[in-house]
Amino acid sequence: MGAAEGRAERHRQGGAQGQRPALLVLDPGVDGLGTPYPTNDDEFLIHPVGTFHNRPRAATSIPNFFLAGDYVSVDIDLATMEGANASARAAVNALLERTGSTAPRCTVAPLSRAPELEPLKRHDRTRYRLGLRNALDLG
Ligand SMILES: Cc1cc2nc3c(=O)[nH]c(=O)nc-3n(C[C@H](O)[C@H](O)[C@H](O)COP(=O)(O)OP(=O)(O)OC[C@H]3O[C@@H](n4cnc5c(N)ncnc54)[C@H](O)[C@@H]3O)c2cc1C
Repeated sequence: MGAAEGRAERHRQGGAQGQRPALLVLDPGVDGLGTPYPTNDDEFLIHPVGTFHNRPRAATSIPNFFLAGDYVSVDIDLATMEGANASARAAVNALLERTGSTAPRCTVAPLSRAPELEPLKRHDRTRYRLGLRNALDLG
């Protein structure tokens, strides 16, 4: 039994120290919930640059299969709660569309980009192309 499976088994049996865990944990990478030392061995997901078009959309080509999660390709191209939420809204809307429902659709707001930050982003892109660090990277 691997470390992750061992933890999952301990959770099933009542927690790492024998007490019942406060929450039902489905993810075997998570341990120590309800203790002062919770741990998570799972890899932290950050979308690698350029993967937007390789990730799945909320509406798949399978008629009754929809995806929601921070890995789904939505306008908020960031693995965040906002990205996961936007994908869930897109999935609900796609489901309503496919079933011909007349129910009101979820609001899907595009990513808000503050116009005053755009010159700074352009400046940063130029520095990046020149192999220079971000102007604020002083470390
Ligand atoms: C340390 C940390 C800090 C973060 N800080 C921020 C922040 O400040 N702001 C922000 O917006 N985002 C933050 N994030 C990212 C944010 O938490 C995630 O992007 C978001 O929770 C993703 O939501 P999700 O529904 O796609 O997936 P999750 O929240 O990961 O939900 C997936 C669920 O599926 C369950 N699951 C897994 N496998 C199975 C299975 N086989 N059967 C049933 N269930 C299963 C998991 O247990 C989990 O509950 C942070 C993430 C981490 C790890």
